[in-house]
Amino acid sequence: MGETEEEKDQAGKLFENFIQASTCKGTLQSFNLLCRLLDLDPQDHETFYCSLKTRLTSWRAKALWTKLDKRTCHKEYKKGQACVGTKCLIIGGGPCGLRTAIELALLGAKVVVIEKRDTFSRNNVLHLWPYTIHDLKGLGAKKFYGKFCAGAIDHISIRQLQLMLLKIALLVAVEFHVNVEFVKLLEPPENQENDGPGWRAEIRPADHPVANIDFDVVVGADGRRNTLEGFKRKEFRGKLAIAITANFVNRNTTAEAKVEEISGVAFIFNQKFFLDLKEETGIDLENIVYYKDNTHYFVMTAKKQSLLDKGVIIHDYIDTEMLLSSENVNQEALLGYAREAADFGTNYQLPTLDFAINACGQPDVAMFDFTSMYASENAALVRERFGHQLLVALVGDSLLEPFWPMGTGCARGFLAAFDSAWMVKRWTEGRTPLEVLAERESLYRILPQTTTENIGKNFEQYTIDPGTRYPNLISTCVRQNQVRKTFSRITFA
Ligand code: FAD
Repeated sequence: MGETEEEKDQAGKLFENFIQASTCKGTLQSFNLLCRLLDLDPQDHETFYCSLKTRLTSWRAKALWTKLDKRTCHKEYKKGQACVGTKCLIIGGGPCGLRTAIELALLGAKVVVIEKRDTFSRNNVLHLWPYTIHDLKGLGAKKFYGKFCAGAIDHISIRQLQLMLLKIALLVAVEFHVNVEFVKLLEPPENQENDGPGWRAEIRPADHPVANIDFDVVVGADGRRNTLEGFKRKEFRGKLAIAITANFVNRNTTAEAKVEEISGVAFIFNQKFFLDLKEETGIDLENIVYYKDNTHYFVMTAKKQSLLDKGVIIHDYIDTEMLLSSENVNQEALLGYAREAADFGTNYQLPTLDFAINACGQPDVAMFDFTSMYASENAALVRERFGHQLLVALVGDSLLEPFWPMGTGCARGFLAAFDSAWMVKRWTEGRTPLEVLAERESLYRILPQTTTENIGKNFEQYTIDPGTRYPNLISTCVRQNQVRKTFSRITFA
């Protein structure tokens, strides 16, 4: 392209800034600068990745392209032609929204992600299943975050994961818009000329360019409070479960490095630990997990009586919302409770237990009610209005809420991301709505049952094709007549 050495040098430096960026805003800024310098338009989604690759030839860039090229070779993507012409909107830039966005972009679709916030601030840590580690390494995770799952580490902070996925998404030409909030879907109007608007999104701010795009596919990835209409939620009510998360500053000293992590699964069965904890401190827990990451992260399920006894909860109410309302929680006592549990859990080996600070400038401790967990009844629906069809899907916590101490959110979330991308591919192949929906629901039936043990073991073979991931798959277990209610159609009068 006739670039001077100086230009190449500058591009290399900007690329390095992009790789190293440690915030959402910094990532977007360095990406925009890089595109401007190289005179590349990321909205040219069909050619962007290839153009970027030919222009960025530093060894670091090349090492990343080798990884990503291996991924783009999956036959399901049809060399990025499988979903050309399909426009997808993803609501929410959490890990599952971003992971879905990457797959749809690799299929060749135009992908727009809207995220209502402009910071990635969650220190909390996600447990990764072996296949998710393999998946992320295959996307170049280590090039963005050298410490990613080094040795036996099988977890990552939510913010670090989002950051890495955002960078990959940008490289494969996903459009990412921060400070844009989804409000609702807008149906195509009945009386319109041939090229009148199709399915659009009402967003805030209303004058944002995304409001003028017609979409073929909308994916709800906005977390447990899913804003997309049309999905009924099933509630799983267990016995009262109150979870506490706490993050402490990690100064990465040798003393801190020596402290052993607590994997929840092993500890659930360690009755003596919990009895000793109760006797010594009055803290009564059902489980506790500790991961050493950017912070020292703890998640624990606490018994109500011990929270009352320790003055964390002030009055005992039957209604859990009232019970855990901020007026009924003594914040200082909560900090003390979390610190004491963390101290005992690590055998008093962490030299200092200073709370990390959250996005609101407060000690990063939170208490949640896990008594009810929600799952959507259906994974997808098709809406047809006056000749315009829209495929609507849910992924991540919007689809199936995880129990945090088990850390299934990301693992099952990525499986649903792949299954949804597969559905979009089927859709663009011209299959009927009922065919597509029946297959998607069949796969969704498997999702809550998935464990590290019963999913495919050959991670190298994993693609968006469900057959590569679920052994003994029967993708027709839900029949077309069972999904009729998820296909709604209004035609011209
Ligand atoms: P999320 O990660 O929740 O992402 C949803 C995204 O959508 C967010 O970025 C949000 O800002 C955005 N959004 C929401 N509404 C809109 C809208 N209307 N328009 C545009 N954007 C929108 N799991 C654990 O295993 N351990 C933990 O300790 C833990 N802590 C958590 C703490 C918090 C505060 C939250 C919200 C979740 C936590 N989780 C935890 C759950 C875990 O983060 C998810 O399972 C995982 O991130 C996958 O979620 P997701 O991508 O589906 O949704």
